[in-house]
Amino acid sequence: MATTDQLQLPAEQAAELVTRWQAVYEQVQIAAPIHHTAPVRLLAVSKTHPAAAVHTLAQAGQHEFGENYVQEAVEKITTLSDKRYDGKALVWHFIGHIQRNKTKTIAAHFDWVHSVDSLLIAERLSRQRGEHGIATALNVCIQLNIDDEASKSGCQPEELPELVRAISQLPNLRLRGLMIIPAKDSTSAFSRTRQLFDAVQDQHASPTDWDTLSMGMSADMATAIAAGATIVRVGTAIFGQRPAK
Ligand SMILES: *Cc1c(COP(=O)(O)O)cnc(C)c1O
Repeated sequence: MATTDQLQLPAEQAAELVTRWQAVYEQVQIAAPIHHTAPVRLLAVSKTHPAAAVHTLAQAGQHEFGENYVQEAVEKITTLSDKRYDGKALVWHFIGHIQRNKTKTIAAHFDWVHSVDSLLIAERLSRQRGEHGIATALNVCIQLNIDDEASKSGCQPEELPELVRAISQLPNLRLRGLMIIPAKDSTSAFSRTRQLFDAVQDQHASPTDWDTLSMGMSADMATAIAAGATIVRVGTAIFGQRPAK
């Protein structure tokens, strides 16, 4: 367990971080009501940043955090697991590429997984969530490879109806919607994803909790919200540049 000291950023750094977060938070709130009845949620992507940075933002009112790397994430989640902010535990979202041998750890520690792109991964997460004896379902989104990039994870749009049908039957998962990472030069990825999202919603057998479009990052969150995003995943604009990998 971390001592309070280990979770304290230098005062100036903490103040800067909270100021940047507040600016992003306000941008999201301003953009949101124009296009939505429900508020858009801001996911703070804390990969490569220390637990102290997460703790600082949590005290300021940010309760949902996104992580890409399992080992790094689990350390932060464990460090902060007994903390409550306004009486609430933090909500952790896994947004990175899922390796098959990591599903068990992901199923144990996360509340959300945005990057499910095959039935095999979904089945493992559901089964292992059950084996861990966690009573609440794991919220999942299907990641779409919307721009058909060889370098990206995600299922193809043609595969979507069958994946939705199969995943929505898994007992320990709650299928919530879609996630995308558009190609750099892609102009229509958000609207095409929105159309696919709506098509699932209109299907007779759409999942009842189908309410989430996870799209938009630091550079394009306003555009994504305008196209219907319900969760934006923002790292750099809040935490500053990540160290080069
Ligand atoms: C890192 C990452 C983000 C955040 O990106 P920024 O450009 O730093 O805002 C969002 N989504 C995914 C899937 C990521 O890997």
